[in-house]
Amino acid sequence: MRQLAIISGKGGCGKTTLTAAFSSLSENTVLADCDVDASDLPLILKPQVLKTEDCLGLELASIDLKLCTGCGICRETCRFGAVLENFTINPYSCEGCAVCTVACPENAVSLMPRVSGQVISSITRFGPMAHAKLGTGEEASGKLVTMVRKRAVELADRYSCKLILIDGPPGTGCPVMAAITGTDLVLVLSEPTVSGLHDLKRAVELTSHFRIPTVACINRYDINEKKSLEIEAFCREAGISLLARLPYADITTEAMMEEKTVIEYAAHSRDTGAVEFANIVRNLWAEIEMRLSDSSKKEMYSKTLLDRKP
Ligand code: SF4
Ligand code: SF4
Repeated sequence: MRQLAIISGKGGCGKTTLTAAFSSLSENTVLADCDVDASDLPLILKPQVLKTEDCLGLELASIDLKLCTGCGICRETCRFGAVLENFTINPYSCEGCAVCTVACPENAVSLMPRVSGQVISSITRFGPMAHAKLGTGEEASGKLVTMVRKRAVELADRYSCKLILIDGPPGTGCPVMAAITGTDLVLVLSEPTVSGLHDLKRAVELTSHFRIPTVACINRYDINEKKSLEIEAFCREAGISLLARLPYADITTEAMMEEKTVIEYAAHSRDTGAVEFANIVRNLWAEIEMRLSDSSKKEMYSKTLLDRKP
């Protein structure tokens, strides 16, 4: 089984558009929507839910008011201001650090598990999908992303799928690390802006650190062709293959509004721009498929920034 992760330095770069498009071009594929903060793949792919499970996140303090004498020590020691006037706990402030459980002279405080979100196993028109729903006020966590990936592997086993397509979270934090660890290839999506190039560099540093073969793609390359050339130069220097330059195109929002992938949308469109966009995505997918299936080229793609450091 092969695993491809699509990541970007920030949200809104077009990861979900590409992941959905790839899902309609590939066969025997499981989707893993690891962008749990902005889980948009279900909006396009309209999954039928098979199973929903709770994910337990950080623990939460709980005060037994029958034991509590109201001395206030816990409120004084909690540096997150999570103990309220009436000695109940504000769940959005409590970090589960356990200081109050140690400080309380009456042993009135304990830590309870709390649900940080749900992990959902589903079926879409392009195959099985694992995704998540974050609880209110909860942040995306590596643990939730890891659970989504585990369910994706289970779905791949159950339905004999050969590939897992991972729509990764933005940034380079813990959820991204959880999304790319152990993958066979990472596609980093970039945009031609100052922050886009900066984010691309950080993403490549991360994949270099984990020694994951990495390729890149510029989205909306024509909004700043000078910056796109800088991105190309960076990719050459870093030994990263730049597989495609996608133009700015209305098809991405139009397709999403119709709950279709860009490939599905272009199949019934007379707009030459939409058809051209879909063809670039097809060619990009063909390049990625070739790399995923050709393990002999792996070394070449591992030639990353980190390897070049003295
Ligand atoms: S567990 Fe930590 S953050 Fe939560 S109430 Fe106790 S001291 Fe405050
Ligand atoms: S430290 Fe313990 S006894 Fe004192 S207010 Fe907090 S929970 Fe109640």
